[in-house]
Amino acid sequence: MQYISTRGGMQPLPYCETLLEGLAPDGGLAVPETMPTVDGETLERWRALTYPQLATEVLGLFATDIPRADLARMTAAAYEPFPEAVVPLRAIDDDLTLVGLSEGPTLAFKDMAMQFLGQVVEYALERKGSVLNILGATSGDTGSAAEHALRGKDRISVFMLSPKGRMSAFQRAQMFSLDDENIHNIVVDGVFDDCQNLVKKLAGDLDFKRAQNLGAVNSINLARITAQVVYYFWAWLRATDVGGWTEVSFTVPSGNFGNILSGFFAKQMGLPIRRLVLAANENNVLDEFFRTGVYRPRSAAQTLATSSPSMDISKASNLERFIFELVGRDASRVVSAWKDLDDKGHFDFTADLSRFIEEFGIVSGTSTHADRLATIEAVYDASGDIIDPHTADGVKVAREYVEPGVPMLVLETAKPQKFAETIREAIGVELEYPSELRAMLDAPQRTTEMADDEHELRAFIEANALR
Ligand SMILES: *Cc1c(COP(=O)(O)O)cnc(C)c1O
Repeated sequence: MQYISTRGGMQPLPYCETLLEGLAPDGGLAVPETMPTVDGETLERWRALTYPQLATEVLGLFATDIPRADLARMTAAAYEPFPEAVVPLRAIDDDLTLVGLSEGPTLAFKDMAMQFLGQVVEYALERKGSVLNILGATSGDTGSAAEHALRGKDRISVFMLSPKGRMSAFQRAQMFSLDDENIHNIVVDGVFDDCQNLVKKLAGDLDFKRAQNLGAVNSINLARITAQVVYYFWAWLRATDVGGWTEVSFTVPSGNFGNILSGFFAKQMGLPIRRLVLAANENNVLDEFFRTGVYRPRSAAQTLATSSPSMDISKASNLERFIFELVGRDASRVVSAWKDLDDKGHFDFTADLSRFIEEFGIVSGTSTHADRLATIEAVYDASGDIIDPHTADGVKVAREYVEPGVPMLVLETAKPQKFAETIREAIGVELEYPSELRAMLDAPQRTTEMADDEHELRAFIEANALR
């Protein structure tokens, strides 16, 4: 299996090489040259597998350049820190079932992909005999999932920028309590956009980037997208009966369109998915797109800080991979859509609107702060179950698309403990922290403080990067 660019300007590359590349050289995103497919017989065979075994099968279709035994070793190691079921399903009422994606070390679904990415990137670097210095900016979940997945690796170090005083106590503790030598938490005197801009400046300096072996593990990374495909298969296998060829629907709390894109891949691979329901918060550029066909990214200033912060996006980095399929894999039409975006601030697929649902099964909705609180409260009253604010956005929008006879699975993207304040506001409950989380909250913290200054950051990386 080879990977090509959505903009048509990249020599086909195998999986392991695509992983280390980030954006394709033409500015596009890597996609499979042909989508692998899975038939009913294979699906039935997969029912007996454990999560790591299923991950080996599904990822094996994408990573054909990795021997099976190596892949099996990596998936076993990736999901070892999880409870035995890895992804448990639980019904909250007659209509909705939650798919538990937040059982990993940082209590959010990003662990599902990052844990595998940590394994496979180290493996790809070993094969190449090289090292990688990850440079990123975070406002919370991505940074902590990346650090927990990459801590202690020999060939990878992490330089993670975060805005001073802008993260929750829990998020700070998750990152800053790590004392591994390869983890550098850089606290910038600025806001998230300042951190992001520093990263862009350094990553945009190609000489510096090459000299320092800089890379990224952001949400466009192919290892992340493919690792996320696995749990759509897992959830379908758990939610349907042997021999049944039942369709199920998934609702996905969405930000950068990474998680739901993996569901879209699963559907294209032949998994019987009826609807992929995109749930947005107040920053609903994607809901707007799937309702109207017009995509109009917002500026940082137009992006609201909400109580489901991991969905606070101004543009959706992975949407280009969907557009590529929408235009029948015609790279020139992808290029012209992004040219429209540059020239006019939006692109327009109104003419294809009916295909969004009929051909691709994607529908969408928006949830607000008030919806979130009401949903957390309603679920708690009905079932005693406490859900996090992002999952609440999913539950709210899922209810609008429940159909008789079609199981509706809502992806639980974080644990409520990460967002204790909103839980308190919704239901007045103080969440209990298990002892290992309390220990983490009390552990000493280690950071490097820095001004919002490119030169200071350059010097720090030069002094500490692996080579
Ligand atoms: C990252 C994140 C999301 C959004 O996922 P995308 O892949 O960016 O669409 C939703 N919920 C939580 C808790 C997250 O951390």
